[in-house]
Order: sequence, then structure tokens, then C-alpha cells
Amino acid sequence: MPIRAVLWDIDDTIFDYSGAERTGALRHLEAEGLLGAFGGEERALGTWREVMETHYARFLTGELDFTEHRRERVRAFLGPSVSDSAADAWFAAYYVHFEAAWSVFPDVVPALDALTPGYRHGLLSNSSTAHQERKLTRLGLRDRFECLVCSQELGHAKPAPEAFLGACEALGLPPEEVAYVGDKADTDARGADAAGLYGVWLDRTGSVTAPDLRRITGLAELPALLAADTRFGAPSPIG
Ligand SMILES: [Mg+2]
Repeated sequence: MPIRAVLWDIDDTIFDYSGAERTGALRHLEAEGLLGAFGGEERALGTWREVMETHYARFLTGELDFTEHRRERVRAFLGPSVSDSAADAWFAAYYVHFEAAWSVFPDVVPALDALTPGYRHGLLSNSSTAHQERKLTRLGLRDRFECLVCSQELGHAKPAPEAFLGACEALGLPPEEVAYVGDKADTDARGADAAGLYGVWLDRTGSVTAPDLRRITGLAELPALLAADTRFGAPSPIG
């Protein structure tokens, strides 16, 4: 049973989320005259990131929907009295700067090109489908993937096995025949392994070691790693 398909994480795997968030937040805070209000750029960015992580986690558990999580991020940043409409407007203004900074990591298209003759491709993201559909289309990559499965519609978020298995079902393949590549060691690689997929940790920063995981530091290493799969005997003939 060789690997027949690759499921991809989106944010910080294909799409440079952290880079766009940083640039977008800096430009927005500057336009709002708020860069100095948090004790300097780095502290402002750190607070924005921390607030995002806190409220995104609440979105992933289903406690907040996507719109509510954005409003809560604005309130956590500016103060609890911000109205829904003011929060929506503030987030929309940030989003213009965020979106202007969107980019795909330079190793994504070469890796997809190298892997397309031998493997099918899909996407699995802890997000909402409408949001990621628009992003992938805007980035010119949506057509490279057969399916886009997101936690909000699926009702399960990575690292729950149901999330990975739901995406395998969308491809019509058993988990043993599917690789998952993502930037988070626990949420992506360990979660995928636990669900029976071939988990691959894309450690772009190279900051941490995790000897139990299949680890790559760039997507150029992915074709050789997939071809070297010997879980079921001989290496894959494709690659
Ligand atoms: Mg990610």
C-alpha cells in the first residue's frame, strides 16, 4: 500500500500566515496610530499574536464562530466595550493590510510540480471552508488540490483523528495511503500518525527537535521522504 495522496495543511505550510500577519498588523496599527500604545512594535505584535491564538483556540472548540472569534480578538486588543460593528470595521481594516501581504512559500509550487505525476493532493485545515477557499483561489493554488476539508464544516479539528479521517474519506483513500504535511509537530504530524496516516512535520524554523517524527525543514525534501516510505515493505515505486 504505497502512499497515493498528500494532504496539506495551509497556514504556515503553503501560505506564509505568520509573515502576512506580522506585516498586516504592523501596517494596520501604524495607520490607526497605535504602534506606540503597546510599548513598541514587537510588544504590539506579540500581543496581537497572543490574542489571535487565544481566540482561535475558542473557535476550534466550537465555542465561537469565525466572525465572533474576530470580534473577540479586537475586544481583547482594544477593550471590552467595542461594539460588534466597530469590531467588524476594525478587523476589516486590518484584513486589507493582512491580505495585501499574502504570499505562498517559494518551495510550494516546485514541490507540487514534483509530486503531481505520482500523487493526488488535498487540503485539511483547522479553519472555515469559505475562508480557505477564497485564500487558495486568491493565491492561484486552489486548482492544484482535489478537496478542501475544514474543521468548521467537518465538526472536528486536528489533532482529532476524525479530522484526518474525514479528509481521507474526501479523497476516497484509507489513511495508510495518505501522507499529511504540516508545520505543527503535535497538531499536524503526531495527530496524523495517530490517525494512521504518514505524518510529516515541516519544521521551517528548525528550532526544535522531535526524534519520533518524520521531519523536513523545507518542501524540497518531501518527494524523497515519501518515496522512502517502507512501512509496508518495499519503498514506493513513485517519486
Ligand atoms: Mg499550519
